[in-house]
Amino acid sequence: MAGVTSTWTEPSNTPLTLLLLGKGTDPASERGVDCPGDLPAPSDPDLVARATAAKAALGDRVFVLGHHYQRDEVIQFADVTGDSFKLAQQAAARPDAEFIVFCGVHFMAESADILTQPSQRVILPDLAAGCSMADMAVLGQVETAWEHFQDLGIVDQIVPVTYMNSSADIKGFVGRNSGVVCTSSNAKRALDWSFEQGSKVFFLPDQHLGRNTAVLEMGFDLDDCVLYDPHKPNGGLTDEQLIDARMILWRGHCSVHGRFTIDSVREVRERVPGVNVLVHPECRHEVVRAADQVGSTEYIIRALDAAPAGSAWAVGTELNLVRRLALAHPDKQVMFLDRTVCYCSTMNRIDLPHLVWTLEELVAGRVPNVITVDEKTAHEARIALDQMLALP
Ligand code: SF4
Repeated sequence: MAGVTSTWTEPSNTPLTLLLLGKGTDPASERGVDCPGDLPAPSDPDLVARATAAKAALGDRVFVLGHHYQRDEVIQFADVTGDSFKLAQQAAARPDAEFIVFCGVHFMAESADILTQPSQRVILPDLAAGCSMADMAVLGQVETAWEHFQDLGIVDQIVPVTYMNSSADIKGFVGRNSGVVCTSSNAKRALDWSFEQGSKVFFLPDQHLGRNTAVLEMGFDLDDCVLYDPHKPNGGLTDEQLIDARMILWRGHCSVHGRFTIDSVREVRERVPGVNVLVHPECRHEVVRAADQVGSTEYIIRALDAAPAGSAWAVGTELNLVRRLALAHPDKQVMFLDRTVCYCSTMNRIDLPHLVWTLEELVAGRVPNVITVDEKTAHEARIALDQMLALP
């Protein structure tokens, strides 16, 4: 992209202090662990050369995956880029690669471990790269809710559905209870299938994807959905509410997409006449309703590829991706939906020093930060993932 001009300007209002990456712990992240090794200094002018040399030395033994929300400095070393499911599939399609270096977050590396060969090792360059949404659904809480549904006598009517953005534990729970995993691309198909199996869906962990899909794509009323809060007795719901509900939504959300508001949409429409508002379905319901288009990360990329020159787009998703899209489309006006910075702080923990450290450790014969899912959990999670792959 060198030499490309762009209309992109960094949002100026940055109310949140960004964390020192790779150092200490992140109180807002669920994992909060230090790097176990000596990280190169971020100011080291040789970082790019070191990463290039280490990757070349490893050759086909290593396969580097880069999620769309990763920083440019990391993405440049990715063998393939994509959303979480595409990357897990890509990892599975490379059985000869000894090491899968996953530049993304923890639940993605777990999915890659589930789908790859036992001999392959999946590595997360910074173990503090978690996902706040995934961590909003803890297995013990979910099992407590399920026991309550059993006590109410409704559990046989319920099909559990979990978004890809969940821990392996939760995918395993869904698999052993005859449910399905979904992505933001196939959520409607997953719900269609689920409502053929039962009369209710228990949707984990992203309330917004569940609500937006049910109401905007399947014609449900908002009243058909109830919100189960794991921090309240019985989810904060009465027995009647649970018995009547068709969608039982877990109270989880993405801290990045949840920041966009209806005011963001109003403000950009006033500022940029004719702008197209394009958002991810992890955004709040009222934001998705006010947008012109809604779709997954891959959908957003395709929509901008297909957009005519001169068109204006305000995009409601993670900032690294929006900025790259703006640079890739200098003939279009691509802007971030909100004026405030909205990086995913945990995605951003994977920086060039962590990648260099990881690759150089591998060259030295040490395998750091391996992500493994135990065999029972992996087996049950695979059932739910296979059900997703078998969706009509
Ligand atoms: S963008 Fe949201 S869902 Fe994605 S990793 Fe970050 S917190 Fe999780």
